[in-house]
Amino acid sequence: MNPPPPSDRPEWVPPDAGPGFTTRIMPATSAPGATPGNVPRRRSPPDVDTLAAGVLARDPALLGRAITLVESNAPAHQALAQQLLSKLLPHTGKARRIGITGIPGAGKSTFIEAFGDHLCEQGHRVAVLAVDPSSSVHGGSILADKVRMEKLGRRTEAFIRPSPSAGSLGGVTRKSREVILVCEAAGYDTIIVETVGVGQNEVAVRSMVDLFMVVMIAGAGDEMQGIKKGVVELGDLFVVNKADGDNLPRCTAAQSELKRVLHYIQPATPGWETPVLTASAREGTGVPDVAATVDAFMRNVAGSGILAKRRRKQTVEWMHALIAEGLRTRFYESPEVQAKLEATERAVADGRLPVVAAAQALLDATG
Ligand code: GDP
Repeated sequence: MNPPPPSDRPEWVPPDAGPGFTTRIMPATSAPGATPGNVPRRRSPPDVDTLAAGVLARDPALLGRAITLVESNAPAHQALAQQLLSKLLPHTGKARRIGITGIPGAGKSTFIEAFGDHLCEQGHRVAVLAVDPSSSVHGGSILADKVRMEKLGRRTEAFIRPSPSAGSLGGVTRKSREVILVCEAAGYDTIIVETVGVGQNEVAVRSMVDLFMVVMIAGAGDEMQGIKKGVVELGDLFVVNKADGDNLPRCTAAQSELKRVLHYIQPATPGWETPVLTASAREGTGVPDVAATVDAFMRNVAGSGILAKRRRKQTVEWMHALIAEGLRTRFYESPEVQAKLEATERAVADGRLPVVAAAQALLDATG
């Protein structure tokens, strides 16, 4: 762009310009720091110190913007996000981190609404985050499609963050972990991470929470419907939801059956016998019991030292997961690999090149 003319007169004005025509160049005043030719089109993020102070002061607007920054994929934002997280890190780690999973329709949203409401009544501050990597698979977010937890969202003690838009499982997971830290720094003492039970998500969420809760429903005839063996092994607490009306006997039966199954499985958390409770998220029955069980769990793991051990392990594993992700990206984006990849794939598919040799050659290509 050309530099502005030295005077405050535009380069050209109509000779007969009347008073209604701008004949002077006005300095931009709409945005702080804006100079002519450099007028920001969008609100630039506040500086890191302002964001950090806002999060610590529990300012909802700045908290939202801090999370948006952390969730951003833009490299410039990522660098700022890391500065922000460094400032917030000393204020993190004090919340209880609870993962909640269940098949679509199990009543997770309804349950979290009732559970969150109960916790707020007890004086807790609750943040609800969603991990919904399935959105990248199905092209639409299951969790974000509906108006969720409206009532809880209206409470000042609660904060509900919808799922970040589509991305890789690793990416979404990484951001969720960072968003947990930001929420902790903002003084939320209970962080609920919700995910849809579609198989792969549970392991990711399990690796970032203290307690993993499975919301299930009693199925007609098949009580274990929708609950995969792998998920049974991950759960610290099972809640058979919709225990109301005619459904009550089926829920009690499902509860007994699940208890029997759990009897033969090693508990997900050593020293904690995994309870199976029933609840009606709709009517609120059983919800205080769930809250009391969560309290008991947290006391148990804090007392036994398992909590501290689990968190240290999770943090180190998180670092290794990021390294693995970074190496993978670096490998596939390297020009040497990109130059050879297609031909090597063809050679392997045609049986002209042994697979092990092919993989080694590509790995060696990156130096
Ligand atoms: P999500 O997909 O797991 O988040 O499930 P939702 O919370 O959206 O609930 C799915 C359906 O089950 C909705 O129609 C709810 O009203 C209903 N529902 C949720 N909890 C209960 C409950 O405790 N009892 C009954 N009868 N219905 C429930």
